[in-house]
Amino acid sequence: MQFEQALTHLQSYFGYDSFRKGQEESIRYVLEGHNTACIMPTGGGKSLCYQIPSLLLEGTTLVISPLISLMKDQVDTLNAAGIPATYINSSLTHTEVQQRLEEVALGEYKLLYVAPERLESPQFLEQLQMLPIPLVAVDEAHCISQWGHDFRPSYLRINELISKLSNAPIVMGLTATATPQVREDICRALHINEEYTVMTGFERENLSFAVVKGQDRISYIEQYIRKNDQEAGIIYAATRKDVEELHARLQKSGVNVSKYHAGMNGNSRDEEQNRFLQDDVQVMVATSAFGMGIDKSNIRFVLHYQLPKNMESYYQEAGRAGRDGLPSECIVLYSPQDIRVQRFLIEQSTSNPKKQIQDLEKLQNMVNYCHTEGCLQAYILHYFGESEAHECGRCSNCTDDRVEIDVTVDTQKVLSCMIRMGERFGKMMIAQVLTGSRNKKVVDFGFDKLKTYGVMSDRSAKEVSDFIEYLISEQFILVGQGSFPTLSVAAKGKGVLLGTEKVMRKEQMEVKQIVQDDELFAHLRSVRKQLADEAGVPPFVIFSDDTLHDMCAKLPVTLE
Ligand code: ADP
Ligand code: MG
Ligand code: ZN
Repeated sequence: MQFEQALTHLQSYFGYDSFRKGQEESIRYVLEGHNTACIMPTGGGKSLCYQIPSLLLEGTTLVISPLISLMKDQVDTLNAAGIPATYINSSLTHTEVQQRLEEVALGEYKLLYVAPERLESPQFLEQLQMLPIPLVAVDEAHCISQWGHDFRPSYLRINELISKLSNAPIVMGLTATATPQVREDICRALHINEEYTVMTGFERENLSFAVVKGQDRISYIEQYIRKNDQEAGIIYAATRKDVEELHARLQKSGVNVSKYHAGMNGNSRDEEQNRFLQDDVQVMVATSAFGMGIDKSNIRFVLHYQLPKNMESYYQEAGRAGRDGLPSECIVLYSPQDIRVQRFLIEQSTSNPKKQIQDLEKLQNMVNYCHTEGCLQAYILHYFGESEAHECGRCSNCTDDRVEIDVTVDTQKVLSCMIRMGERFGKMMIAQVLTGSRNKKVVDFGFDKLKTYGVMSDRSAKEVSDFIEYLISEQFILVGQGSFPTLSVAAKGKGVLLGTEKVMRKEQMEVKQIVQDDELFAHLRSVRKQLADEAGVPPFVIFSDDTLHDMCAKLPVTLE
């Protein structure tokens, strides 16, 4: 109906030429009167999907948003664009709240932002009931799902509120969390017909993903920051203690750095956040408490100091990089020890066994991300349900030029060893048997008598255990749940044992070294030939390889 006007408003109020992917469709559904779910990556432009309809609908749009500290910013931005908006949260006095409600009742605002905690007050609900509210926008709607990564009990009140409002408003749920379960929860809770779910491509074409393994993390970060010293970035760490330590360390080495975690008091948290938002500091070191809803467009890198707890929070946090569309990097610094830390945190965080199993499964998917040798962006998109993910050509896996080698026989060794051991053990024990360890446990179980004992003794237990991680990430091996997960052969693995399935793997670092040397050698040969041609002599006469090395070093061109 009023859709043409939506575009005019986009241009005149917000100053943008055209809608982004998904915005037009979401706005259209809302204006047609449908409850709508709007699922777009962080930075995708969800806010406009309710702000523009609010301008076209009679009355005041209610926006429920979990972040009090950001409401004021958002409202200020709207006001500056000439859109009357206001907020109600705990930073206001009772009188101010009453005054704003009166102003809303008089129709002075197009948007009213409230924190979900407000909905706990029956008196507040009663007051809202009287207002002409055509649209309720539930921002960060994944908070409604107990299976989401950020459940807020007060979000459960939203439904109650909506059912009480006098004029049956249109409801909109907005989130960057795209997992099917959370999506379903949102649709069920907010009475959204699946048909009116707008989900845009989750690919962020300006982000390059990387996983860095086997490096000293602190020195990696220090070097990285030095190399990118003009750029703003966030470093996420798993615990408050890690944040404090890393922050102190970076400060000592002269980095202009802020910190943020839930253990700090509200004032200093806000202060540190503002310094970062206003470009007064370069780097923010934080726990995942930092960042939901923040709108800083020029973040050029998001590093994860440790393994994140799941793909949902990882993609949300990494997605804070590059909101302005410019190339940005998202790097996980990974070490297998992190798995234990995260597993511990999960076990501490909930005693609900179903939730625990689910969280552990999610953690496993995150670990698989760090071990996959396929495209990282494709892995992410696949995880969020996009079936046709192509290779991005930018991530650390796409850009390395290692060749694939056939590791079917090695895989058969691992799997048949697991079966002989009764599929009751974890990866370290399996690696020890395969490498022929005399470890007491190996001998006590009699595994040194197995036919597969020591069949991979040409490798270290660490290399074999790494290889097992790879087989897990490629789903040849299944991981059981619990604190000491046992490994079993997956259906795909049975195919390998039967000889119907092949296993390929990118060659490992050691092999890469040799290939590089080969390349250098070939290059030297061609330089030798060129120089000899110029000298008019046969190439094998004049130069030894050592002289060639020296000559190459003096050449103005660098070796390719
Ligand atoms: P989200 O809530 O999905 O994380 P926001 O609504 O905060 O994202 O928008 C992210 C950024 O994109 C903001 O700076 C916003 O002004 C900008 N933006 C939104 N829509 C458009 C558009 N159609 N054209 C250009 N920029 C846009
Ligand atoms: Mg948002
Ligand atoms: Zn890729």
